[in-house]
Amino acid sequence: PAPVAEDLLQDLNDAQREAVLHDDGPLLVLAGAGSGKTRVIVHRIARLVRDRGVVPWHVLAVTFTNKAAGEMRERLERLLGPLARELWVQTFHAFGARFLRREAARAGLSPSFAIYDDDDQLRLVKGLLSELGLDEGEGLTPRQVLSQIDRWKNQALRAAEVKVAGLDPEAARTKEVYHRYEQALARAGAVDFGDLLLRPVRLLEEDAALRARWAGRFRYLLVDEFQDTNPVQYRLLQLLTGPRRNVCVVGDDDQAIYRWRGADVSNILGFDGDFPGTKVVKLEQNYRSTRTILDAAHAVISRARRRRDKRLWTESGAGAPLALLVGEDEHAEAERIARAVAAERGRGTSGDEIAVLYRTNAQSRPLEAAMRAARIPYVIVRGTSFYERAEVRDAAAYLRLALSPASDLDLERVVNRPPRGIGDKTVERLRAHAAARGLPLVEAVAERDAVAELKPAARRALAEFHALVTGLAADVPALDAGVAVQEVLKRSGMLARLEEEHTDEAVERAENLAELVAAAREFDESIAGEPPPGDPEEVRPPPLARFLEQIALLGEADAATPEGRVALMTLHAAKGLEFEAVFLAGMEDGTLPYERPWADQTASERDESLDEERRLCYVGMTRAKRRLTISLARRRIGYGENGPSYRNMEPSRFLRDLPPELFGDAVAREVRAREAARAAPVARPPTIRRLPGALEGEPHIELDGDELSQPAAPAPRARPAAPRGEPTVDYSFDQRGDAGA
Ligand code: ATP
Ligand code: MG
Repeated sequence: PAPVAEDLLQDLNDAQREAVLHDDGPLLVLAGAGSGKTRVIVHRIARLVRDRGVVPWHVLAVTFTNKAAGEMRERLERLLGPLARELWVQTFHAFGARFLRREAARAGLSPSFAIYDDDDQLRLVKGLLSELGLDEGEGLTPRQVLSQIDRWKNQALRAAEVKVAGLDPEAARTKEVYHRYEQALARAGAVDFGDLLLRPVRLLEEDAALRARWAGRFRYLLVDEFQDTNPVQYRLLQLLTGPRRNVCVVGDDDQAIYRWRGADVSNILGFDGDFPGTKVVKLEQNYRSTRTILDAAHAVISRARRRRDKRLWTESGAGAPLALLVGEDEHAEAERIARAVAAERGRGTSGDEIAVLYRTNAQSRPLEAAMRAARIPYVIVRGTSFYERAEVRDAAAYLRLALSPASDLDLERVVNRPPRGIGDKTVERLRAHAAARGLPLVEAVAERDAVAELKPAARRALAEFHALVTGLAADVPALDAGVAVQEVLKRSGMLARLEEEHTDEAVERAENLAELVAAAREFDESIAGEPPPGDPEEVRPPPLARFLEQIALLGEADAATPEGRVALMTLHAAKGLEFEAVFLAGMEDGTLPYERPWADQTASERDESLDEERRLCYVGMTRAKRRLTISLARRRIGYGENGPSYRNMEPSRFLRDLPPELFGDAVAREVRAREAARAAPVARPPTIRRLPGALEGEPHIELDGDELSQPAAPAPRARPAAPRGEPTVDYSFDQRGDAGA
């Protein structure tokens, strides 16, 4: 066997080393959070390339987010130097896009095909529903239809293969929309996110020679966060693995949080069945968190109904107790979090080592306001927000149109932006004409009989627009991304229009467009020094196509935390990441576990969802290295039948699963005292007191005793204002509750 350099195996425990040194054949690393699974992947790749001479482009590693892929590439570059750049380290979707660009001819696509994102998909579905006359009345919403299409795609089903049960009219209609949706994408030469996986799977399934070629090229495949792969991703993996079966997957069934997107935990639990002879390695030592944090996480996850029992241990000490913040409402909660974050920074923790995690995006608004008020630099981690702005999307639509003029969706978006007197009626007519003749809109625009009945002004406007699009298509595709963006902004009239406007809003939009030019230029620079690919088969599309692909793939669950800034993100986006201090907000029944107001679930579905919420909570808690703070609001604004209204919230059942001791001795004593008081009720005035014994730098604890008072003696709800910058822990809810119920 090849020699193994010592340093790759240092800082690994025996089980990790076993996984890194495992030579050929399927390997499954099944282990809890923070046990070094990702580290195993990185070291295993480094060892393959450096010590076993595997060609880097014969290694494919797949992770869940761009951020995780980026971090993996960085760590590999530190271990391997420039060789690391030739590895295939990316998300499933980015892999699919790269595959399709290489196999574009076979897939019937141009190599610079456009990728439709969620917003594009939704617009397309809306258009199709109205075309079918299904957009009025009580029918299906575009969102529902799109979710169903996505579900089918996640199961690797094309429209023609969808079986509609019995006479279900809704399903039949949805299938019809799916069918037209496929046709619209095909006409535009575009793909959606689902296609990035589905199309490669189909190409590989249908063509044995192609399959042999691709399976032959990847000598080693590695997958992180394997518990969240859905059937189509798993199928792709199986097709690429081929007879060599050098596939290594790592994951944690306790962190499966994408069931709602079609992920299937049975992939991980049944892996050794699909790949007989799999070597299974379990990791049990956690290197990330303190014992207190692990105990808390374990208390929550161990109550999940369906799980393989496992428990992590750590050599690190108990560390700081958990802290708890309670606010009267979501704003008070957010303010308390902001104060505690400020205190954490005051203790010397850098902002980017602090994260505030929440269940739903809506929770971010009060948090954001509180951070701003407290002057804490923060970033909301939601990869695409910049690219979601209307003007940026307009510019992107022009760019995509330049690459593929047949993209009707993009054409409809910009045909009257900036306004050029082409109204909805005109577009309607063009659409009918195009549909009747099976033409893309751009060709209908140029057809004499399509425009014959229009007013001369409209005809002129359409002729100019047609000239604009064909001009862009002729000149722009070969340009560098930065120049291409500038060209589009200028020729389309977008910039000129904003300059005329003289409003604050116009200025802001123009600034965003300038930002887009800057982003495109940065992209050009980032690829300028690129050495030619070592892999002779590598095909690199022109810069503009690559830039647009990068934008399209910025996933929703994607983290990019600029230096020093506190990260605000959803629990889903936090997976795989770690921070010194974590704040878990909204620990209330209904918020976490989240309760879908529309959910009409059977008892077993409810259990399944509750388990998934539990796993989410577990993911959130295990992001913390040193300090975990949990917060909740007593009431929270929600949207009921009569618009927004406040709802009283109960502390989360997950909170009640936590042993009080984890919050420190003082709290545990107090809880026991309350229990005793409750067992033998005596009239006792409410107390507001500060418990002694809080250590320097440790959150102190304030209690108001109103819940101990007898109904006969209503208590004033006094709450001392916390001194600025000092964290406050309230423990005033009813801890006893129905714990264990
Ligand atoms: P998650 O399930 O959250 O994705 P993970 O199992 O992938 O976690 P890693 O992120 O690989 O865990 O590791 C967690 C932390 O522990 C990292 O900071 C990593 O550098 C560190 N670590 C892992 N293994 C060791 C080790 N043997 N010695 C020291 N530190 C380690
Ligand atoms: Mg990991």
